[in-house]
Amino acid sequence: MTRKLDFKAFILDLDGNIYRGDRPVEGAAGVIDALRKKGKKVLFLTNNSTRTPQEYTEKLRGMGIETSPEEILTSSIATAIYMRNLERGGVYVVGEAALKSAIAGEGFTLLDEEGARRAKYVVCGLDSGVTYRKLAAACLAIQGGAKFIAANTDRNLPVEGGYLPGAGAIVGAIVTATGAKPIIVGKPSKNIMGIALKRLGVGRGEVAMVGDCLDIDVAAGRNAGVYTILVLTGVTCRSDLRGRSVLPDLTLESVADLIELI
Ligand SMILES: [Mg+2]
Repeated sequence: MTRKLDFKAFILDLDGNIYRGDRPVEGAAGVIDALRKKGKKVLFLTNNSTRTPQEYTEKLRGMGIETSPEEILTSSIATAIYMRNLERGGVYVVGEAALKSAIAGEGFTLLDEEGARRAKYVVCGLDSGVTYRKLAAACLAIQGGAKFIAANTDRNLPVEGGYLPGAGAIVGAIVTATGAKPIIVGKPSKNIMGIALKRLGVGRGEVAMVGDCLDIDVAAGRNAGVYTILVLTGVTCRSDLRGRSVLPDLTLESVADLIELI
């Protein structure tokens, strides 16, 4: 008989774990249902900063998973929560609407390219409308003394046929130009994991982290001292585990396999 995973809560990565792009992973909805029936807490955790929790609840509902915005933590929301303790001031954001609205929601003033020189903070997330002008404004603000915060540093976004540049590619352009080192909020940082544990109201020994990326999800769990489960429905395959120093506590073909373990 397989040993049961006796955790109070599960932190679940979205893309590559619950769905791939717009296609649900088979059995994912059933597992979420089973976790709820067993009284487990669930938090969906994504580094994607381009959608709001409300938008994710709608996406998940379309896949047969009932949830609420409180159960969804994006790197945009985590960045805004991280900034809650910082002195208020002007923020120049290289990012999309979901990141901007989360930061504005914490009482920060959003600046445009002309105003960026007055910025106290530069925040960078994925921005599909990034331009040289935006990068230039961010670089000048940082050289003028603005603190540099990255919603996440994911190198790329897997799509059918290859990889698109992720937030990390944009952050990397600013780092290359300025030499500044950003504070990273998203996975694998302890920042977002701390926010996730607080939201769940559990200690690090009471939760398992489930995701498809070694460098992001497994590393995040490791950094936070949380039990890690790698699934092979996303960017990682079994052969990628060879010779790696950061390894998961458990590897499953799919999140659907959790059903046997809870
Ligand atoms: Mg993923």
